[in-house]
Amino acid sequence: MSRFYLTTAIDYVNSRPHLGTAYEKVAADVIARYKRLAGFDVRFVMGNDEHSQNVFRKATELGLEPLDYCDRMADEFTSVWKRLDVSYDDFIRTTESRHKKAVQTLIQKSYEAGDIYPGEYEGWYCVSCESFKQDKDLTPDGLCQVHKTKPEWIKEKNYFFRLSKYRDRLVEHYTAHPEFLIPESRRNEMLRLLDAGLEDISVSRAGQPWGIPLPFDPSGVVYVWYDALVNYAAAVGYGCQPKMFDEWWPADLHIIGKDITRFHCVVWPAMLSSAGVPLPKQVFGHGWLTFKGEKMSKSLGTVVDPLEAAERLGPDPLRWYLTREVVFGQDGDFSWDLFEKSYNADLANNLGNLVNRVTSMAHRYRGGVLKGPGVPADRLTLTVDAAAWTYREALDRLRLSEGAAAVVTMVDAANEMIAATEPWKLAKTGEERALDACLWNASEALRLAAVLIAPFMPSSSAEILRRLGVEHETRALRLERHASWQRDGVRSVQQGSLLWPRLEASPADIATNVSTKEPRVSDQPNPNPPAIPPAGPTPSAHPEPASPWPLESRLSIDDFMKIDLRVARVLAAERVPNSKRLMKMEIDLGVEKRTIVAGIAEAYEAEALVGRHVAIVANLKPAKLMGIESNGMVLAASPEGGKPILVAFDQAPAPGTRVR
Ligand SMILES: [Zn+2]
Repeated sequence: MSRFYLTTAIDYVNSRPHLGTAYEKVAADVIARYKRLAGFDVRFVMGNDEHSQNVFRKATELGLEPLDYCDRMADEFTSVWKRLDVSYDDFIRTTESRHKKAVQTLIQKSYEAGDIYPGEYEGWYCVSCESFKQDKDLTPDGLCQVHKTKPEWIKEKNYFFRLSKYRDRLVEHYTAHPEFLIPESRRNEMLRLLDAGLEDISVSRAGQPWGIPLPFDPSGVVYVWYDALVNYAAAVGYGCQPKMFDEWWPADLHIIGKDITRFHCVVWPAMLSSAGVPLPKQVFGHGWLTFKGEKMSKSLGTVVDPLEAAERLGPDPLRWYLTREVVFGQDGDFSWDLFEKSYNADLANNLGNLVNRVTSMAHRYRGGVLKGPGVPADRLTLTVDAAAWTYREALDRLRLSEGAAAVVTMVDAANEMIAATEPWKLAKTGEERALDACLWNASEALRLAAVLIAPFMPSSSAEILRRLGVEHETRALRLERHASWQRDGVRSVQQGSLLWPRLEASPADIATNVSTKEPRVSDQPNPNPPAIPPAGPTPSAHPEPASPWPLESRLSIDDFMKIDLRVARVLAAERVPNSKRLMKMEIDLGVEKRTIVAGIAEAYEAEALVGRHVAIVANLKPAKLMGIESNGMVLAASPEGGKPILVAFDQAPAPGTRVR
């Protein structure tokens, strides 16, 4: 089995993780889970970066030993990751002995290679960034550009790493391996930086009480960035377990934020080259998650707590939002409104609706047991197969939002098929084979969608599969075995509570424009979250809609105008053999003549139709009904339980006239 070693950035532990931090872990988790689904033996590593001076200060402030403080923060971080269902295989902390050993081994090798030399550093240092600053890195008033605080002026004996020596080698590597850093915009940034030349960097700090001692001069500690980067190698045994290291290194993918690309794509590969260690295969620099367009920052009050977001609608909808709505690699935005809209559109109205329809119809019409009729591929099968292919191609290229969108396409197609086939009518008219085919095919499209959403929404996937009577251990799902269309089989379908009850817009939402900057009720965390863990109990009640057509779901005039309604004249009509309902008609649309099949045979005699003017949807894709291709749809009032009544005109317009 091919191996896939995947890492995320490790986090400073001076504050709890916010939603921006969680975004990276969730995206990486979707990749890890997808790789497992695709059959890779995956090692997914995350961790905490504990040797920063801020950690030492924070611990001292709280009257704690630094390590005790780090232990507490490690519990906080891992409990957030568990709540978000992040499936890491290993969580490394830089205070662990395996990590210390790896750091000391790597820096010793560089030292022996002549790449580390003593010198004196004099200059600015921002403790919040944990980085050395040149004048050009500061604001005109001499403040850190990120933290807006005055950096410290330090003068100390440090060891330097000959980064400058690796410039040409890095340029060569970038040229030979264009895939080394993606997306391409980040790669171009790094090439510009390399073009400008590299300076040697300080890799130690003197007189610091907290950090990993330099093996060749224990009076200094390893600079926290050098220390932190080594975690990726340490986590697979560098310096401790050579066999394991050989098996897993080089890493296949480092997922990092775009702000730390230089460390990962210039400094880290140079450190590895110097120590004779192969370079990672790929680095992906993702964008930032903003809150209503603002950078998440404590002082601006724009920090979103990932646990609060997960409590609001459940961890799976949050994971879905972060990876479906944000284009991986670009910056993305989060607001409670956007989150709820995504939830309603994709989950409540679409996937949740399909789950509900399939399971309830299975019970209503077939006592809960669906049988595969072995029917040949139809349009739904083809759409679903194509979407599954798009999904794989997108996820292989780390295009997470496109992969998610492909699943939505499948669900759309299944919902459309149900609407077009009208199984409730087939049940009435006793068309048993057609009904079996419709129910089976809808359940099969749903099953495939559930398999493919497993990386995005693992517990929802498991729950849908359970309801479909095809339980698998989520980790045992494989694209090869479980992601192709099945034409035969028997399924015992379970009914259950709504997975994602629709959120109705509060009056405040309707009264206020979506883009307003005013704080509104719905932008505050919901004090009474519906709390729907996918497998959990149903919230018993949610407010009844004020109208079946809430403003937020209405079409724009542009959307409506996409539907081309026309006047047509019926030239000929005959009943479709063996169907009580269907009437086949030849119609004149002015510019062309067409065949159209409509479910009006119970209400109209064929002879009475000839010469009539009807309204039709002219730009509908053709559909086969009882083997006859229908090109368009005739409009009729459709009373519940009654017969259709054709839309008519009080004068006869010319065939082809637009109706609007
Ligand atoms: Zn700073």
